[in-house]
Amino acid sequence: MENISIAIDGPASSGKSTVAKILANDFQFIYVDTGAMYRAVTYLALTQNVALNDEAGLVALLEKFPVRFKQAATGQRVFVGEQEVTKEIRQNDVTAAVSEVSAQKAVREKLVELQQDLAKTGGIVMDGRDIGTTVLPEAEVKIFLVASVEERAQRRYKENQEKGITTEFETLKEAIAKRDYLDSHREVSPLVQAQDAILVDTTGMNIQQVVSKIKEIIAQKGY
Ligand code: C5P
Repeated sequence: MENISIAIDGPASSGKSTVAKILANDFQFIYVDTGAMYRAVTYLALTQNVALNDEAGLVALLEKFPVRFKQAATGQRVFVGEQEVTKEIRQNDVTAAVSEVSAQKAVREKLVELQQDLAKTGGIVMDGRDIGTTVLPEAEVKIFLVASVEERAQRRYKENQEKGITTEFETLKEAIAKRDYLDSHREVSPLVQAQDAILVDTTGMNIQQVVSKIKEIIAQKGY
């Protein structure tokens, strides 16, 4: 496989990260979870008492506690400064607050710069909301993954059950729909399908089927 860039965008809980990790592993590419970066700043804001819309304050946090990834056998570990926050950034309070933080222009500029730097060698699978439109507009392959809100909520519900986290299905569904709305309606780099992205609707498909479908698309493009 050539050292291409693969951009995977789509709404919350559409399976982007699971699929992106499998593709990266199969192609021996680097995987970058950009959502984890926005979650990490949000975690910092909540724990350091910086307002979610305080652009300058959020950027200062990122400068003081840079976001870094470390690859481990157990998956990708996320750090802010020296502190590991891999688990903390998945908690409900972070999920509920992240869309407000990610709507701040200065935060996006800072993180996009970091993402572009990580991608400059190629051989990358990056997932998020604006990868195909803003971060890697020249990516050789762009996928836009969608699934019905009902199915995405069901997948997340099952995942939570397996992790021993109790959540109410309806609450989960509302939270997903709300995050989609906020991410799609913000001014800076909203969640939108890039013109040259290929839409894959994963409703009713399992992960292996989605991975095969994307590999087919990549092969059809001649890579
Ligand atoms: O992908 P994940 O659901 O972990 O992303 C968390 C949040 O980070 C999204 O709801 C969105 O607000 C923000 N995000 C973004 N741009 C990206 C990736 C994530 O705005 N490229």
